[in-house]
Amino acid sequence: MIEIFEYCGKEDGLSLLVLAAVHGNETAGTKALNRLIEKLDKQQICLKKGKLTLVPVCNPAAYQRHIRETEENLNRVMKLHENPQTYEQKLANVICPLIAAHRMTLDLHSTHCPEDVPFAFCDYADEYNKPLIAALPVDYVLEGWPQMYAAQDDILDFSTEGYAHACGNTATTLECGYHQSEAAVELAYQAVMKALAVYGMIDAPMPSAHKKQHILMQSFVIKETDGHLCKDFKHLDAIHAGEKLAVYDNGAVLTAPQDGFILLPNPDAKIGTEWYYLGKQG
Ligand SMILES: [Zn+2]
Repeated sequence: MIEIFEYCGKEDGLSLLVLAAVHGNETAGTKALNRLIEKLDKQQICLKKGKLTLVPVCNPAAYQRHIRETEENLNRVMKLHENPQTYEQKLANVICPLIAAHRMTLDLHSTHCPEDVPFAFCDYADEYNKPLIAALPVDYVLEGWPQMYAAQDDILDFSTEGYAHACGNTATTLECGYHQSEAAVELAYQAVMKALAVYGMIDAPMPSAHKKQHILMQSFVIKETDGHLCKDFKHLDAIHAGEKLAVYDNGAVLTAPQDGFILLPNPDAKIGTEWYYLGKQG
């Protein structure tokens, strides 16, 4: 049910897995990987070292319907399920062994709003993801995701990054910008090319570091009933203590607890899912 493309270099080297469309409507990474597959197949790009595995569509049923998920968020159930109950749990059982078999995973995503700026997540920094994140052509890196979930709701990290970490491997998530933008496709493609260069898998110079602002994620807000965000918030908008962020139809108002940033606001969040996150300068 999932198409997997594998390439081997002549020399030993790192094993790199690149995932796209873990969320079915996030297709920038899919388009970028399809472009890369074409170039690899035509030998316009030659893998020199290591092993490269590409999965352009991790959630095929959601991808076909242009939706985020069919039954649940695949990036919250990324572990091996003995008796998988949902379609996404069955997918996790295919993807997790791939993550376990690769030293490094790059997971390509995109976000909800047209002006969204791209950024990387760094959940478990180590010598494998730090040089890649340094090279990625984005201005922001978000840190502290697993600690935030563990602190707020005792939720364990069943994401691609969490599963890689649990296996003793490493992963990085890249949010390439707005789902529909061509710039997001280009960024996803450049990110994979930088990864291949950073890990010496192609003949290319080591990419120079791209300066980044570090944001520490602090909390998340679940949308509990019908309501709306107070503004057309954009990811990484600065917010001030006491500022109104969201209003429920019953009149309850949610305000910013302190100065900082609103992160990943989703105006279309379904009830019971993450509406927005809060962070501060790291
Ligand atoms: Zn996503």
